[in-house]
Amino acid sequence: DHEQARELLRSKIRSIPDFPSPGILFRDITPALADAEAFTAAVELHLHHIADLDGQLDAIVGMEARGFLFGPILAHRLNLAFVPARKPGKLPAETIAEDYALEYAKNTLQIHADALRPGARVLIVDDLLATGGTAAATTRLIERLGATVAAQLFMIELVALGGRAAQGDHRVEAVLQF
Ligand code: AMP
Repeated sequence: DHEQARELLRSKIRSIPDFPSPGILFRDITPALADAEAFTAAVELHLHHIADLDGQLDAIVGMEARGFLFGPILAHRLNLAFVPARKPGKLPAETIAEDYALEYAKNTLQIHADALRPGARVLIVDDLLATGGTAAATTRLIERLGATVAAQLFMIELVALGGRAAQGDHRVEAVLQF
């Protein structure tokens, strides 16, 4: 059942102190990817969290790089488009950009200007919600293209960092909370 799957997945998240910089407790999802049963559990749990949005989505936007792990899998399972939000200088056609601050760095995300049609209903997918800066910047990119964010879905929410509150009224779903 779902609670058993959640416990299996939780047991495969590895916590690494002081990576990539002192004071950061890095939540490493690679053991969950390396275990076929945990990987399957992760996919099914992601789908379970947004089951009520079935038929109400047009696209998934995933953020570089770990939003590219589950985003395309979920898009394929739900028969949706997948749109990458990328670090600067990677997308070849016309882009729009948003700056953001994350837990341990500053960065910019870009999306292709023609990637979403106005009115498209979008699910944001990333591995982890920390301060919420990455997700908020991605939401701004999507809304600047005239599309709407139906929900944001993460494998992990670091509850103490307050990323959920940084998303305003947007719906936030997390498979695991730490
Ligand atoms: P934030 O913008 O602060 O919500 O940071 C979220 C982004 O940074 C996600 O794309 C994560 O992959 C990454 N990230 C931030 N903090 C951590 C952490 N403690 N462990 C693993 N990844 C993290």
